[in-house]
Amino acid sequence: MKLAVLGKGPSLNNYSNLPKVDHYVIVNNFDQEVLQNEKLREDLSNTPVTHVANRNTLSMQGMVDNDMYGQLNIVEHVQPYVDEMKCSHGGCYCGNFQDGKFNDDKGNEVPTKILNPKHKNFMFKSGEQVGHPGNKYPYYYPSSGLAAIAYSVLELLPNYLYLVGFDFHEGGYAVGDSVERNTAPDSEKLGQKYMLSKLINSYTDMYFYLHTKADFEYEFENLIVNKIN
Ligand SMILES: [Zn+2]
Repeated sequence: MKLAVLGKGPSLNNYSNLPKVDHYVIVNNFDQEVLQNEKLREDLSNTPVTHVANRNTLSMQGMVDNDMYGQLNIVEHVQPYVDEMKCSHGGCYCGNFQDGKFNDDKGNEVPTKILNPKHKNFMFKSGEQVGHPGNKYPYYYPSSGLAAIAYSVLELLPNYLYLVGFDFHEGGYAVGDSVERNTAPDSEKLGQKYMLSKLINSYTDMYFYLHTKADFEYEFENLIVNKIN
């Protein structure tokens, strides 16, 4: 099975270099990226899509407002948390979760779930990355994007995994997005490359193709990096 995880970094503009895949994973608000790229919109409408989105209402608003759950072939919603990461409720859209379903209040409903407990073997423990906002949780991934990659690796188990749009916050975003720009603190950069390297190193039978504008210092036999200038 071939799978692609799409991030919001500027390397997403090289999306057309990706081969056709069997399944896509997108992260948080991805509506403007879809609306501004006809090929992307077509592929995400015709191929099954997993949507990973954190609990912040702002991370979901564009997806709902622009009817992405109606237009795209989203087959499941995944919350990038394990059971220990309780929500304190406030500015979240937890009210849209009921009986294992996510409902966008517009008549679209898909199954939703949290991460399998086996992710705890990979996640950072509280205090492990000094200055990271995730330290408020007993376990955390460095970002929703990395949680989406980890979910793909550990639970969707593709043979070939393509990553594009992951530039580790080093070059802004492919599409202007003031919300994310204002809410992604520098401290969230911490540990992202390290976490990706840990996943690649732990799943040696899986082939990873990383299209990125960032330098990725780690080398593995099952990793091909396509550095985009
Ligand atoms: Zn909540």
